[in-house]
Amino acid sequence: MNSGGTFFYPLKMGKIILLGMQEVMGIAGVDALGSLAPLESFIQNYPEVNPTQAFSFETMSLLQSTLEQAYGPRGGRGLALRVGRAAFKYGLKEYGSMLGLTEMAFRLLPLPTKLHTGAKAFADLFNKHTDQKVRIEEKDNKIFWHIDRCPLCWERKAEEPICHLAVGLLQESLYWVSGGKVFNVEEIACIAHGDGVCTIVIDQIPLS
Ligand SMILES: [Zn+2]
Repeated sequence: MNSGGTFFYPLKMGKIILLGMQEVMGIAGVDALGSLAPLESFIQNYPEVNPTQAFSFETMSLLQSTLEQAYGPRGGRGLALRVGRAAFKYGLKEYGSMLGLTEMAFRLLPLPTKLHTGAKAFADLFNKHTDQKVRIEEKDNKIFWHIDRCPLCWERKAEEPICHLAVGLLQESLYWVSGGKVFNVEEIACIAHGDGVCTIVIDQIPLS
């Protein structure tokens, strides 16, 4: 496996993640992470990142493992979830109109249709604009968000699923799409755990 940076997110998406981190941890918190890991050069140059420097899967994975290193597995997990949730609104600002999610026609659709259409649009965004590969499967009132190539757990090994940032991002997107409802979102398989794919299950019936 080539670890020199084979797969990438566009910088715009890297910035969205870093804005989420900044909101949750403050600038000082993000800076402190930079001193722990080779993220340093990226964070120091943020937000005026060198446009030729893409946001590699290695960097994405490192962001999360650094959180765990700094705050312990449980603390790091909680933070990654919150970063994912916080990053959603920056993502929406950047990509929402392109995906048609901010149009009135979308807002007026019934909830099940919105979940179906929204999940597909969201998956397309990753498939077309990043090297992350996402596949949607719908059955038994559930949406299975399969990440066939996942940056969050890239080249990691873990005892349990660790793609918490994606879980947070999906939680917040569901909250927004449904106009304030909360859904059960759980990662049930993870490549870092030895599974063939990272799978996040979304219950289509809201909890509240
Ligand atoms: Zn993963």
